[in-house]
Amino acid sequence: MICYRLHCPTGHEFEGWFPSGDAFDRQKETGLVSCPECGATEVSKSLMAPALARPAIARKDPAPLSPVDQLRLALRQLRKEVEAQCEDVGDRFAEEALRRHDANQDGDRQPARGIYGTMSDTERERLEDEGVDFTPVPWIDRSDN
Ligand SMILES: [Zn+2]
Repeated sequence: MICYRLHCPTGHEFEGWFPSGDAFDRQKETGLVSCPECGATEVSKSLMAPALARPAIARKDPAPLSPVDQLRLALRQLRKEVEAQCEDVGDRFAEEALRRHDANQDGDRQPARGIYGTMSDTERERLEDEGVDFTPVPWIDRSDN
């Protein structure tokens, strides 16, 4: 967008916003640019460098995210959610998940708060064998931009 300071033969001054300099010329030729005061279409550009459109700069909308960035954002939100709602048991995850699983089978009430952590492939196979309910989640780095 380009902002032109315009004036009509009567001397009224006003600003007009145009997609480009060419667009201004075309709109002027077809009589689409008129003075807001008197309606004259014989408008001229004042001798003034066109200013960059402020609306385009001030607009707060971020550029649309690429699919990869959308995924990263979703993963980061997922991580935030998990960290907020679950207890971090670190590398004791398999141990703790198994303990809860066994206690659950014995009919004990389990804490509502879930757990999260890490485990090795071996531990993971063990949990699968025991029928422990767990969900692997992609753990995105917080600082990953
Ligand atoms: Zn005028």
